[in-house]
Amino acid sequence: MVAAPRKPIRLFRQSAILLCLLLFLFSCATAPVTERRGLHLVPDSELATMSYQEYSQVLKKSKLSTDVVKVNMVRRVGQRIATASEQLLNEKGQGEDVRNYKWEFNLIEDDKTVNAWCMPGGKVAVYTGLLPISQDENGLAVVMGHEVAHAIAKHGNERMSQGLLTQFGAIGLSLALAGNPGATSNIFMQAYGVGTQVGFLLPYSRVHESEADHIGLILMAKAGYDPRGAIALWQRMNAKGGSRPPEFLSTHPAPESRIRNIESLIPEAMQYYKVQR
Ligand SMILES: [Zn+2]
Repeated sequence: MVAAPRKPIRLFRQSAILLCLLLFLFSCATAPVTERRGLHLVPDSELATMSYQEYSQVLKKSKLSTDVVKVNMVRRVGQRIATASEQLLNEKGQGEDVRNYKWEFNLIEDDKTVNAWCMPGGKVAVYTGLLPISQDENGLAVVMGHEVAHAIAKHGNERMSQGLLTQFGAIGLSLALAGNPGATSNIFMQAYGVGTQVGFLLPYSRVHESEADHIGLILMAKAGYDPRGAIALWQRMNAKGGSRPPEFLSTHPAPESRIRNIESLIPEAMQYYKVQR
């Protein structure tokens, strides 16, 4: 039997060992296309479980669109982007990452919210407020490609890893992960940009944004959508700005340099687009 005062030390040691193990097991992933390495502390299976729970909660609380034409458009574009992302990851030898995705695409009736997101495991929501800006399937493919790119590049896992480290510290992290997943739920919501209150969301970093733009252009091109349409889409999104910018811009900082960056990426994306012709 161990004397009481030694307990915290043993707990500390166990936590430290568990943390090192987690760091070793889950921090080695790279993003497709850009091959940037990122810190991914949360196991994919755990993320998928949280994702499915949160997604069903969001759907329960939301009013889903009953406009068959629009809903079908969202699902059609989404499925084509999903297939393109599976192809892309298979080509990169990372097909395992999406093999267990359970893709789902829903349109939420909310004309005031200019937003869309994709949780890990392929759970996607588009808000009706986005449709006047996306205008057509090609425009929607720009946004869908960008959001799915955040998911397959595991940006949420990176943000969640940072959030967990900040909130719980290195030792508490391993306990939080090993214990009740509910403890990490709030950080999960923040990491994936779920929710419509701007103050609630952590902004994606500049690195994540340009990486999602890059991968997103390739996904839409592979899916048979013209990546050149991305310029007009982001111009329309910027024009919507002003005194009360759409949530999409609040959580996705859009400096003018972003459009220049996208312009520079289009020749590469066109290589994928031409293959589809
Ligand atoms: Zn983004």
